[in-house]
Amino acid sequence: MSLPPDYHMHTPLCRHATGEPVEYAKRAVAVGLTEIGFSDHSPMARDDFDNWRMNASQLDEYVEKVRKAQRDFPQLTIRLALEVDYLPGHEDWIRDLASRHPWDYFIGSVHYVSDNWDIDNPAKLSEWNHRDAFEVWSTYFDRLTMAAESKLFEIIGHADLPKKFGHRPSRDCTPLFETFLSAAKKSGCAIELNTAGLRKDCREIYPSRQILELAFQKGVPITFGADAHASAEVGMNFAEAVQLARDIGYRECCQFASRKCRMIKL
Ligand SMILES: [Zn+2]
Ligand SMILES: [Zn+2]
Repeated sequence: MSLPPDYHMHTPLCRHATGEPVEYAKRAVAVGLTEIGFSDHSPMARDDFDNWRMNASQLDEYVEKVRKAQRDFPQLTIRLALEVDYLPGHEDWIRDLASRHPWDYFIGSVHYVSDNWDIDNPAKLSEWNHRDAFEVWSTYFDRLTMAAESKLFEIIGHADLPKKFGHRPSRDCTPLFETFLSAAKKSGCAIELNTAGLRKDCREIYPSRQILELAFQKGVPITFGADAHASAEVGMNFAEAVQLARDIGYRECCQFASRKCRMIKL
């Protein structure tokens, strides 16, 4: 079985990943991938926004690291991308980033449900104790819907991230999922099957089977990403992710170059 592209991986510039792009590329070849894409956490307009991303002045260095991997591994297709945080009000900054380099795609991710709470940050895990899980999921999906509507992104990242540590609302979230997926379909955004969830407390791929089934019914296309923060994680659990997508009915996924999508066989 040929594996789909792994479109979600990081570099040490984000300060919480290890290994250079060339090491990730080497691993990709070793596990049988033919295409990958680097999508490190994008800089914010303000470098002191948080401490888990590159500074704006390091963007050129990031691009050069990816270019080096492209030069060293001509047998592997390597895309240049970013995982961009979506926060309402950051749209102009995101457009500015888009204009700086010839990106292949942007993954739009919501990590922040307010300017100071990134819900997946283990250092802020206790914040969950003060919050109602449904309200967090609801705010998160409102922002994810806005991200999909913004047309700033080709792919929406880890669509049910709030489950990371196992915080699941007792109320039915189906309407939140429906609204988000309708927006993704309307603006032509793909969603990713992100296998990092299997390595977290939630122990399942992002997003859930339920969300993927709804996405398939609506005709929302997919990509795959291991969200590697170390070279050993490149392509991790891809066979399982492909199996899940195929069980649901998907027979193709997206390939991106110069921010344009082409459907390829799964
Ligand atoms: Zn990260
Ligand atoms: Zn992320």
